[in-house]
Amino acid sequence: MKDVYILSVETSCDETSIAIVKNGTEVVALTILTQMDTHANFGGVVPEIASRMHTENITMVLEETLNKAHMKVEDVDAIAVTYCPGLLGSLLVGVEFAKVLSYVYKKPLIKVNHLIGHIYANKIDNKMEFPVLALVISGGHTELIKMTGDYEFEKLGETEDDAIGEAFDKVARVIGLPYPGGPNIEKLARDGHDTYKLPKPVMDDTYNFSYSGLKSSVINLVNNERQRGNEIRKEDLACSFQTTAVEELTRKLELALKNTDIKNVIIAGGVSANKYLRGQIQELCDKYDAKLNLPEFIYCTDNAAMIGAAAYPLYLKRDFADLELNAKSTSSIC
Ligand code: AMP
Ligand code: MG
Repeated sequence: MKDVYILSVETSCDETSIAIVKNGTEVVALTILTQMDTHANFGGVVPEIASRMHTENITMVLEETLNKAHMKVEDVDAIAVTYCPGLLGSLLVGVEFAKVLSYVYKKPLIKVNHLIGHIYANKIDNKMEFPVLALVISGGHTELIKMTGDYEFEKLGETEDDAIGEAFDKVARVIGLPYPGGPNIEKLARDGHDTYKLPKPVMDDTYNFSYSGLKSSVINLVNNERQRGNEIRKEDLACSFQTTAVEELTRKLELALKNTDIKNVIIAGGVSANKYLRGQIQELCDKYDAKLNLPEFIYCTDNAAMIGAAAYPLYLKRDFADLELNAKSTSSIC
């Protein structure tokens, strides 16, 4: 079969990224331009600034990607783009850019859900084997999905309140760590111990998660200690929070491993970059003789290569979008 090259565009939040992916698994070229330093000045992503910066930089990101690949837009077979979920203004920049490329170069357009992109990050270089349990853990989502084949999703459970990444970011803020909170909590936790008593997750027989109780208890603890004039041991608090947050995930994953007897596990989304979490999930998979696939760190956070990987099965099915395609801020996998 002829090789398929997909040029993919990702602008759902604060990374402007374009990739060229061969046959859904091989990254020919990838460029990621992050706006993190700009947004760090404001303590979080400012949507208006994010979309303006995407507009300013996207053409340069395309040029750089084509140069790295030694290719022209004429050489690719399709244009893929993230159309949901994310910041609407940011998504629109990528969607309109991809539509123009598709129209001018007469290439089919493929629309990709960002969360499905995070799952398909596991197809890059690795082989994702079905059936598989996928834990999607990001700034906006915490979902446990069963996949029986390409684009065959069954949601087993999801968060009832906050997403795990959101809890990391809010706890980071309350203990005075800069944005983005997740990686900074992880760094601090390495020097701490699990000494603070935080409410342990309640075990029920659903696959749903909850993070708002844990987040609130950390906020209350910090406020109470400050009122009493006590020092907070930030390293220990970061470690205690991270330990409890990860336990919430592993408990539900363990339940699914027991009940479904599925032997393949993947993790996806920004929080999957957390090394402590990776270690705990690896231990659990070893216990159940299950194979854990971990995406490389560069493919865990937002990037266009995962969008190219997720677009490939749609290309094979000729599942193309038309120029009416619009961006959508909210959406789930299934
Ligand atoms: P995403 O929503 O997939 O773009 O991922 C962003 C989220 O992942 C944010 O909430 C980050 O704080 C979180 N995150 C990124 N790296 C880490 C890490 N090493 N540990 C915990 N959370 C992380
Ligand atoms: Mg993301």
